[in-house]
Amino acid sequence: TPSSTPRIHQDKILVTVRIRPLTPRELAAYDLIAWDCTDENTLVSRNLNHHTGTYTFDKVFDPSCPTRKIYEQGARDVALSAINGINATIFAYGQTSSGKTYTMKGIAENVINDIYAHIENAVESKFALRLSALEIYNETVVDLLNRDSGALRLLDDPEKGTVVEKLTEEVVKDGQHLRCLIATCEAQRQVGETSLNDRSSRSHQIIRLTIESSLREESRCGRSLLASLSLVDLAGSERVAQTNADGTRLKEGSHINRSLLTLTTVIRKLSGGKKTGHIPYRDSKLTRILQSSLGGNARTAIICTMSPALSHVEQSRNTLAFATSAM
Ligand code: ADP
Ligand code: MG
Repeated sequence: TPSSTPRIHQDKILVTVRIRPLTPRELAAYDLIAWDCTDENTLVSRNLNHHTGTYTFDKVFDPSCPTRKIYEQGARDVALSAINGINATIFAYGQTSSGKTYTMKGIAENVINDIYAHIENAVESKFALRLSALEIYNETVVDLLNRDSGALRLLDDPEKGTVVEKLTEEVVKDGQHLRCLIATCEAQRQVGETSLNDRSSRSHQIIRLTIESSLREESRCGRSLLASLSLVDLAGSERVAQTNADGTRLKEGSHINRSLLTLTTVIRKLSGGKKTGHIPYRDSKLTRILQSSLGGNARTAIICTMSPALSHVEQSRNTLAFATSAM
């Protein structure tokens, strides 16, 4: 139940790991399960040849875990902080085919239901919601609610920080309308897919819900709150340079993804109390767009997704190394 969710420290990034079931293809190939969840925080490698086989996170979710539970324990507190005026971001991070899109679709559905349940209960407040959605592909920003507008520019606004020029913002009428808009974005992302079939493994998708609320009775000092919730389906993590625990590079993939690499650096610097140093938000489009929703007065949840298969164990280890650096 939501009430049993441990409250996380305000500044801390909530880091969880979800292991998906073996796919029919992996089953047909007699692939083996390489990992066990030994308790709700611990993941253990079955391969005894690996010495560093135990990992601890805020939560780990085994293949039987439904997205509802992942939402409640790995995203809900962070998502709802946007209703209370605190910017929030929920990421899915993992290699291609590890379950990022599957997970973020389910998270979005839970967010919609939860936010509208909250709005219906909060009878003293009135809410205004807006939705925007974009894709970053090869450091080019595209509007998923209006692909025809082409490559969008980022501008520095003295008050709002980085803004995406000409990005569509739809006023959301109700929960059903929000569901339709998000489905449109997903369909738009697939349109791009046909022209280059691994586009979704190279691109980042951000769905951003802006929530404004104020008390209905003007006499009560007219306090209003404004914050955004960003739902981010990242490019496949095989697109990032492999780094050691100390952050030095081991090797670079042939398709190095600047936004993903910069994000991992930003996350590593934000975690572990190293907040004093320079944080290179400005080094990529993704981190510029998300700057006001990461660090500072913002809440962040990262859901790392991984395949359970022995054949993917190296990529899974890379994902777990990133998850560890975010803790
Ligand atoms: P990614 O977005 O990381 O490339 P997908 O979300 O497309 O990966 O998932 C790859 C495949 O695995 C899809 O067929 C998806 O339906 C399936 N899948 C992923 N996660 C789960 C899960 N938790 N339960 C059942 N099937 C899943
Ligand atoms: Mg995907």
